[in-house]
Amino acid sequence: MKKNKKRQKRVIRNRIILIAFIILIAIIVILINNNSKENATVSADLDSKSEIFSNITGVTAEVSKYIVYGTHLNLEGSINVTNSTIDNVKLVLKSSNSDEIVIDTDYEINDSTLEFTTGEIINEGLDLESLGRKSYYLLLKVAYTNGQDKYYSLENKTNYSNIDYYTITKNSENNKIYINFGEYNSVPYLNLAANKVEKLPDDVYDIVIDPGHGGIDAGAVNGNYYEADIVLDCAQKLKTKLEELGLKVFLTRDGTEDENENTAYNMYDDNGRITKAMEANAKIFTSLHMNSNQAYLANGGVEVYTPGKFNYDFAQLLADNIVKMANTNYSLMTTNRVKNGVYMDNFTQNDIEQANEEAIAGGYEPYENITTDTSYLFMLRETGGIATGAYVDGRNTNYSANKYYNSNIGLESYLIELGYMSVQEDLDNILNNSDAYMQAVAESIKTQYLN
Ligand SMILES: [Zn+2]
Repeated sequence: MKKNKKRQKRVIRNRIILIAFIILIAIIVILINNNSKENATVSADLDSKSEIFSNITGVTAEVSKYIVYGTHLNLEGSINVTNSTIDNVKLVLKSSNSDEIVIDTDYEINDSTLEFTTGEIINEGLDLESLGRKSYYLLLKVAYTNGQDKYYSLENKTNYSNIDYYTITKNSENNKIYINFGEYNSVPYLNLAANKVEKLPDDVYDIVIDPGHGGIDAGAVNGNYYEADIVLDCAQKLKTKLEELGLKVFLTRDGTEDENENTAYNMYDDNGRITKAMEANAKIFTSLHMNSNQAYLANGGVEVYTPGKFNYDFAQLLADNIVKMANTNYSLMTTNRVKNGVYMDNFTQNDIEQANEEAIAGGYEPYENITTDTSYLFMLRETGGIATGAYVDGRNTNYSANKYYNSNIGLESYLIELGYMSVQEDLDNILNNSDAYMQAVAESIKTQYLN
């Protein structure tokens, strides 16, 4: 018995030593592996750079437009081509493992000029959220009819410089994509370097929620109910729900604003809501409102407004989810309607003429850049940068300048009219059911951006 016990003890001790040894070996293997992986990435990157650039001709394509709108990069440019035997043209991303990501590209050849673009739709183009953690070179790939492919690198001919893009927080993680123009052996290039960051910088948010009106401006009124109060309550509920999804949320006002403050007139000032929204460096923007219209007194329902030249899928998802989850309906209003519950309101030729007349009557210069592609609703227009034709609102000389009007970085903007203050059924529903309305918005954001 005694001997057996001793033997057992020895066996156990040997086993412990063996297990410890195995663990130690495993740790060493993991460390060596990690190290060589890192080294492999670095050398692969250098190799790929010389490899990628060895295939590039001396001719470069010129970038004339370069916009980050929400989560997408839009690009436009041209190149001189002497050869008209072109079969196909694509913008591609080349990375270290020689994989090629093909980007949807439209092109046109006139005489010897080839013009290319990621397309007219401002919330499409290159999806920055889907990029892996790699260094990519954005190149123009031209396939000739003789079966030969040629790659051209891109040269910045815009007035805009490099952009730091931070991806939307997903599973507590963010990537920083450094979108930069550089030069390698005198060849200009556009590079997108995506790396993981520990956390978002303090001044970078995922989403901005704008509770409409506020201060001296109560918005629409029904009895003792004010639009400004209702949408603020909704915005705060939405903020909590989005934070529970791990998103970093910024509110343009939180109800602490002075009740005499004119939040509309100072919206471009340092403390104004346009400036605050732009300085939040977010990807998504949503402005919450309640509608009011005597002509549609009998019909309430939801309306989601977007800028023009838009992919309406997310707007449709918002409208669908609100209708379903908050037990309401699509607004029956037909003006500016593009789909059920989805609306797009641009300046009409009439609006432009009127704005110009008002400017002249007011003794100031009309805005040159208003077109029928410019969004009429100022929160959508002014937060969207040049993609939505932002400019200083000309309806009143008291408005000061939107210092971001010329920015090539814009927020992907949605304005939601949750329902009609003037329709009792709608008002009652939103008063009793605001949680469901905001749950619908949060679910939509989760589906669109976090899956
Ligand atoms: Zn409103």
